[in-house]
Amino acid sequence: MDSKALYAKALTLMPGGVNSPLRACRYVNAEPVFIDRAKGARMWDVEGREYIDYVLSWGPMILGHQDPAVTEAAHRAVDKGSSYGAPCLGEITLAEEISRLVPSMEMMRMVSSGTEATMSALRLARGFTGRSKFVKFIGNYHGHADSFLAAAGSAAATVPGTPGVPEEIVRHTLLAHYNDLDAVRAHFAASGSEIACVIVEPAAGNMGLVLPADGFLEGLRDLCTEHGALLIFDEVITGFRLAPGGAQERFGIKPDLTTLGKIIGGGFPVGCYGGSRTIMEHMAPVGGVFQAGTLSGNPVAMAAGLATLKRLGECDYPALEARTLAFARELAAIMESKGQAVTLNAIASAFTMYFSQGPVTNMIESGKCDSKAYATFWQQMLAQGIYLAPAGFECAFTSFAHTDEDFATTLDAARKVRF
Ligand SMILES: *Cc1c(COP(=O)(O)O)cnc(C)c1O
Repeated sequence: MDSKALYAKALTLMPGGVNSPLRACRYVNAEPVFIDRAKGARMWDVEGREYIDYVLSWGPMILGHQDPAVTEAAHRAVDKGSSYGAPCLGEITLAEEISRLVPSMEMMRMVSSGTEATMSALRLARGFTGRSKFVKFIGNYHGHADSFLAAAGSAAATVPGTPGVPEEIVRHTLLAHYNDLDAVRAHFAASGSEIACVIVEPAAGNMGLVLPADGFLEGLRDLCTEHGALLIFDEVITGFRLAPGGAQERFGIKPDLTTLGKIIGGGFPVGCYGGSRTIMEHMAPVGGVFQAGTLSGNPVAMAAGLATLKRLGECDYPALEARTLAFARELAAIMESKGQAVTLNAIASAFTMYFSQGPVTNMIESGKCDSKAYATFWQQMLAQGIYLAPAGFECAFTSFAHTDEDFATTLDAARKVRF
């Protein structure tokens, strides 16, 4: 069956034919292609068409697909049983490695998704401080737990309101625009003693890539310390992408709690949250804050995650950043030469080329991008074998498997786009 036939069948079995909304490709006025396999920087659809992949499963595949060391580690783990529901060595080795790379995470808990990690971190912050309110930034996405579904980014930004989330729940969610320290200051001035935490993507990746302005993260750190609130860095995207130690290493700010996901699973479902021993020991069975999981610390996922982090230790981050930035700048220049206004936000191995006059520093500015121009660009790139995120407000990711030839092929495709 081809993608069209599979999509028709999927529509009868899953709402919108998908298990996660953006995959339906509605924002680029297209139907999804169904993927059959992937290797390195490439994916192949069920009709055998080849694509250079800049979505990378929305971030996890920073080594490219089927990295031999990761695949082998996963195979070896499966051969020893796929789940025990009891402690295993892999949990310790992965936790030790994460703690070494991200020293603010003295202790941690493994869960099965980024959503679980942020949901648990919020519960812990509330349990630790005995406070209910928290500050979240408009356009930041922290997974789909109820409390976060107020002005969330990514696919949630396209859902009008959030039916199913009682107003009583998001009443505790205080909103501010990204990079707007004054708005956060105002929340603390009004209700500082009730605020459990501020949660932030230290570089935002779900309203397109938006970088923290100078002093923004430092300001959040100071406000939280001053008012006895916890600072949570949601590093589900930035962890092991902005630097081996994540955004906190890159920007030199120490959060109280960190959430991880995506890359630490090496393509398997893993999330993780952690911080100081003092805070983490509020979790059951030591403390009273509850969180559990049938598949938490799954041996196959732990093995794939550890192999990924080990491999990343041999990778040249600055070199990939330099190549990615040069590639992204050339891509933007090509679009400009066709009369498109574009704004490029880029860091490490992530970038967003917004089809709008910049700058883009928050959700309002991100929302101004020309979605029709992006849809035209996306459709013509896909037709030429370039797989980009099916929405103009998402990141493009590169991996250590992308070659200069892959970038050159992509730029050639971009030169042929007609608006
Ligand atoms: C993807 C993402 C999440 C949610 O992770 P899932 O594994 O999809 O549940 C949370 N926070 C950020 C910053 C993300 O990008």
